[in-house]
Amino acid sequence: MTFRDPLFFRLMQQFTGNEAGTGGLVTFKDSNWLLSVVLPHQPHFIDQPDDIRVCWGYGLFPNKPGNHVHKKMAECTGGEILTELCSHLRFDVHAPYILESAICIPCMMPYITSQFMPRSKGDRPPVVPRGSNNLAFIGQFCEIPEDVVFTVEYSVRSAQTAVYSLLKLDKKISPIYKGHHDMSVLLNSFKAMLK
Ligand SMILES: Cc1cc2nc3c(=O)[nH]c(=O)nc-3n(C[C@H](O)[C@H](O)[C@H](O)COP(=O)(O)OP(=O)(O)OC[C@H]3O[C@@H](n4cnc5c(N)ncnc54)[C@H](O)[C@@H]3O)c2cc1C
Repeated sequence: MTFRDPLFFRLMQQFTGNEAGTGGLVTFKDSNWLLSVVLPHQPHFIDQPDDIRVCWGYGLFPNKPGNHVHKKMAECTGGEILTELCSHLRFDVHAPYILESAICIPCMMPYITSQFMPRSKGDRPPVVPRGSNNLAFIGQFCEIPEDVVFTVEYSVRSAQTAVYSLLKLDKKISPIYKGHHDMSVLLNSFKAMLK
């Protein structure tokens, strides 16, 4: 979504108490499409003009009719998706102006959850298959023990592994962050659970 006016961002900041880029996802748990929206720090792009705001969101159930727009999300225009979002946010009074001054471009990502499909050990090849001297697998569908997919780090680490080992470079692969071994993370998780 591209907003030619900061109004939507201002309203979101009032609603969440978070300045863009400082909060997490906002998920509408009662939304039929299970809509979420994410407001990153602005400017997001190099040379982004001062009065332009960009953000994105997603729906996990695109084949259900919306709560306010009674169509499947998959069949909606960007304007209709933005209308549904503004309705969940109770921004109805401002919605006509927001819609007029924004562009929302829908994008279908049918394979986005493919990385999380059940699989068996051995389904994914190691980055450098045994015996390989000139072939390696990089990206999200190779196996890196103890790492977690759907992260940029995973792809970067796979490329580091491929290049360093095939070229026999004496360089260290970036270590995997293990939050579940970090006492402060465990403590904060525990506190959050008690809230
Ligand atoms: C909506 C969304 C939100 C995400 N949020 C986060 C996040 O907050 N943090 C995070 O760490 N990760 C996030 N991810 C995951 C992260 O974006 C990906 O894991 C990462 O971009 C994968 O990098 P990659 O280089 O392996 O593959 P890609 O970035 O997919 O690059 C593959 C490239 O190959 C090109 N290509 C494909 N086929 C061919 C072909 N035959 N010939 C030539 N080129 C081809 C594609 O066009 C593409 O440019 C998110 C992903 C999505 C979809």
